[in-house]
Amino acid sequence: MNPREEKAAEVYARLTAAYGTPDWRPQFEPVDELILTILSANTNDRNSLAAFETLKARFDGDWDAVRNAPLAEIKDAIRVAGMYNQKAPRIVESLEKLCQEVGKYSLDHLAGMPVDEALNYLQSFPGVGHKTASIVLLFCFRKPTFPVDTHIQRQSQRLGISRAKASPLEVKREWETLLPDADYYSLHLNLIRHGREVCDARAPRCDECVLRSLCEYAKNPPNA
Ligand code: SF4
Repeated sequence: MNPREEKAAEVYARLTAAYGTPDWRPQFEPVDELILTILSANTNDRNSLAAFETLKARFDGDWDAVRNAPLAEIKDAIRVAGMYNQKAPRIVESLEKLCQEVGKYSLDHLAGMPVDEALNYLQSFPGVGHKTASIVLLFCFRKPTFPVDTHIQRQSQRLGISRAKASPLEVKREWETLLPDADYYSLHLNLIRHGREVCDARAPRCDECVLRSLCEYAKNPPNA
């Protein structure tokens, strides 16, 4: 192991010791996960889930009914997630794409697809970037791709796993180079939890942090 791999392994080990290894729990069918992650852009989990549940309830879980509904009805159902003027047409376009290309509202054909091909395919959907695509593939299909959200980007930069201004895509590639595939799911969830509970964007609680001795930010805080 080189020093960077050792550091990544230590981050993994300390977060696992602090938070445990999360169980594999695919919460949603792949198409549901796709729609939920489209709804999750620029909002929190509570609001995106509320919008998703309202959408499903309003249309009795029938994606065909959503695809054929007036946009105003969809916007009204997902209003709590914000950006509904953009998200409603993205949802309809995604359902239309599935209908035309797959003939049904299913992403099951991704199960046998190589991970890079599956990532490219999902990113051809409107508004779907590598984070959303990776979440669908990792959570629903257990494919080895590491989703990077703002919590993970921020902590990776602070820790020095990636460079200080690294993009989410660079951070994704760093972790995928440094860690075994089997660690992605657990590290993804534990880093998000750590970002919410300890490594806050504005006020990180470095004194309580299990990663402190590994962290470049803690060694050289910006306002020291
Ligand atoms: S030491 Fe501070 S900046 Fe570094 S990971 Fe922990 S909370 Fe974040």
